[in-house]
Amino acid sequence: AEEVGGDDKEVVKQYFNNSGFQRWKKIYGETDDVNRVQLDIRLGHSKTIENAIKMLQDEGSLSGVTVCDAGCGVGSLSIPLAKQGAIVSASDISAAMVAEAEKQAREELTNGAVMPKFEVKDLESLDGKYDTVVCLDVLIHYPQNKADGMIARLASLAQNRLILSFAPKTLYYDLLKRVGELFPGPSKATRAYLHSEADVERALRKVGWRIRKRGLITTQFYFARLVEAVPA
Ligand code: SAM
Repeated sequence: AEEVGGDDKEVVKQYFNNSGFQRWKKIYGETDDVNRVQLDIRLGHSKTIENAIKMLQDEGSLSGVTVCDAGCGVGSLSIPLAKQGAIVSASDISAAMVAEAEKQAREELTNGAVMPKFEVKDLESLDGKYDTVVCLDVLIHYPQNKADGMIARLASLAQNRLILSFAPKTLYYDLLKRVGELFPGPSKATRAYLHSEADVERALRKVGWRIRKRGLITTQFYFARLVEAVPA
C-alpha cells in the first residue's frame, strides 16, 4: 500500500477546481461528448443517485426535511431533493463545483421549489444539525484513516440518518484494472481509495451509529456501496 501524506485534501481540491471539474461536469451531465467509459460511469452514478433518493423516500415525504449534501458536486442529488421539498444545504470543497451546481439549480428549480443553500466548504468544517446527511462518492478520494474522521464528522451533523457511498474494497482486484480509466492521462491528479465495508461499519459504530440498509451499484467501470446508517 502507498504511504499517504497529509495533502490529499489540497490535491483533491485543486483537481476538482481544474481538470477534475471539467471531467466530472461532463460525466455528470447529459452531453454526447463522453467516451464509452465515461458514459458507463455516468450510468453507474445516476443509479447511485436514484437509489439514494429511494432510500431517502422510504421514511416518507421529503417535504420540509433538512438535508446536508456534503460534497455536492454539480448538484446531482441536491437539485432533485429540492424539487421534492427538502430543505437542502449543499456544500463542496470545490468552488467550481458549487458554482456549477448553483447555476444548474437556478435553471431547473423554477416553480416554487426552495433553492438549496450552496456553500464552498470542506465537509470537515461543516456544522449545524440536519435531519439527514448524505455524502456520495466523496470517500473514494481519501484513505481509510481520513475517512474515519470524515464519517465521524458527518454523523455528528445528522440527527436521524446518514447515507454514504464508497467504492467497496471487495471488488478491489476488478477495480484495480479499471481505476486507471477513472483518472486517465494528464488529469491523473488524484487516486481512488477503496474502503472495506467492515472499516466503514467500524467507523460508524465508534460514534454510536449502525448500518440499517445497504445497496450495491455496479456497472462495468463503476462500483459503489451505498449504506444508510442510523443512531444505534
Ligand atoms: N456527491 C456528488 C455526486 O455524487 O454527484 C459529487 C461526487 S464527486 C466524485 C466528489 C466531490 O467531492 C467533488 O465535487 C469534490 O470537490 C468533493 N470533495 C472532495 N473532498 C471533499 C471534502 N473534503 N469536503 C467536501 N467536498 C469534497
